[in-house]
Amino acid sequence: MPVNAHKALNSANESCYVKKLKLPKEREDELRAVRDELRDAIRSGLKDWTDRFPITEMITRDAIVALNSEQADITEAFGRPKFRMQGSFSYSTVNDPAKSKTPPLQIDLDDGMFLPTRYISRDGALAPSVAADGYFRAVEQLVSDVCEKNGWTLKQKTSCVRVEIDREAHVDIALYAVPEKEFATLVETAMAQERVIRDGFMDLRDDDFGNEIYGRLSADQMRLACRDDDGRGKWIPSDPRKLEDWFRDAVREHGDQVRFVSRYLKAWRDEQDLAGLASIALMWAVVEVFKNHQGYRPFSGRDDLALLAVARELPEILRQEIPNPVVSGARLDQGWTQADRQTFTAAAITLEAQLEAALITSSTLQTTLKHMLAALGSRFPIDVSLLAGDMAQAVGTVAAPELLTANLLETKDERPAVKLGGDERYA
Ligand SMILES: [Mg+2]
Repeated sequence: MPVNAHKALNSANESCYVKKLKLPKEREDELRAVRDELRDAIRSGLKDWTDRFPITEMITRDAIVALNSEQADITEAFGRPKFRMQGSFSYSTVNDPAKSKTPPLQIDLDDGMFLPTRYISRDGALAPSVAADGYFRAVEQLVSDVCEKNGWTLKQKTSCVRVEIDREAHVDIALYAVPEKEFATLVETAMAQERVIRDGFMDLRDDDFGNEIYGRLSADQMRLACRDDDGRGKWIPSDPRKLEDWFRDAVREHGDQVRFVSRYLKAWRDEQDLAGLASIALMWAVVEVFKNHQGYRPFSGRDDLALLAVARELPEILRQEIPNPVVSGARLDQGWTQADRQTFTAAAITLEAQLEAALITSSTLQTTLKHMLAALGSRFPIDVSLLAGDMAQAVGTVAAPELLTANLLETKDERPAVKLGGDERYA
């Protein structure tokens, strides 16, 4: 008997799954306050950085030579940092982590720090005058003072500065350099058009940076500070905006359901202890299924059917390489071993079977509930009144038994599966 489990997943009912996955407001406020305290410490610590950090560690040797020959003030090698949130908080796909896992799952609040920096010519290309090494050390030192005061822990990472707040949450700060000149021009233009205000001398609010400047910075000079295996700092080209825009475009195209289904899958991943199966890979799978479903009857009002459609494709998706949708040649599954892939695929096959059993072939609502709980964990509501027999689907199934998903295959139209024309946001 086909079952409609949408209400149990997503409805006004207080016990529905998506409400249980929501990060409690107090916890979110607490994490934002931590983020702001870290931002403030970094901002004020870098204001008089020459008193605090050795110039020769903070600025590359080439840059010191270049700035001296220009008779430029070395303190102007970089300006005041700006910040912008990244990751699940910017995608709006945050879940409250499942409890009682060992080790505990951690909420990951990703913040981006953007340092407007003088770029100097080096080996025929432009490079930030700030040393990736020194940048890392300076931020870690400033952050460690705050950690000590609050009982937080600084963790060494290769592509961010991580602060563990407690056993169940951390803040990651990714360290970027952006060209000072371009940054200043964008700020001046925005000011001339009165689209931003400055808080005092030379400072732009983070909100104004996020809304007005961030999206307009060109991609080709944006750099992320990273560490080699031997701990040495280096710059790598990296643009966090592309994935963010890719996901936002997908939500615009296919609706909020893309977000909800991504969150159910992330919750499933956590319940099944599939550490290493990156959220972004799951989001890619969801977007892919929605994209290929275009032209068929939409999953309107039926998150359960949307989740089932993704679950049916997931084993095959995870068996293959997962491309990074915005960086050609890069992949979202690069760190997976063959064993990881097998584990993820096997779990996806089980999920598909559980959802088929719950939503298509279940003989009672109790059976549906049992399978949903096994797949999605104990935050799925134990309340059969949120489940209902789905007569519309049942009729479709009887009429065309070879097409169990008949309702999903109707009314194909001629809409193109891909968007025509590019966009030039990072030109
Ligand atoms: Mg992170």
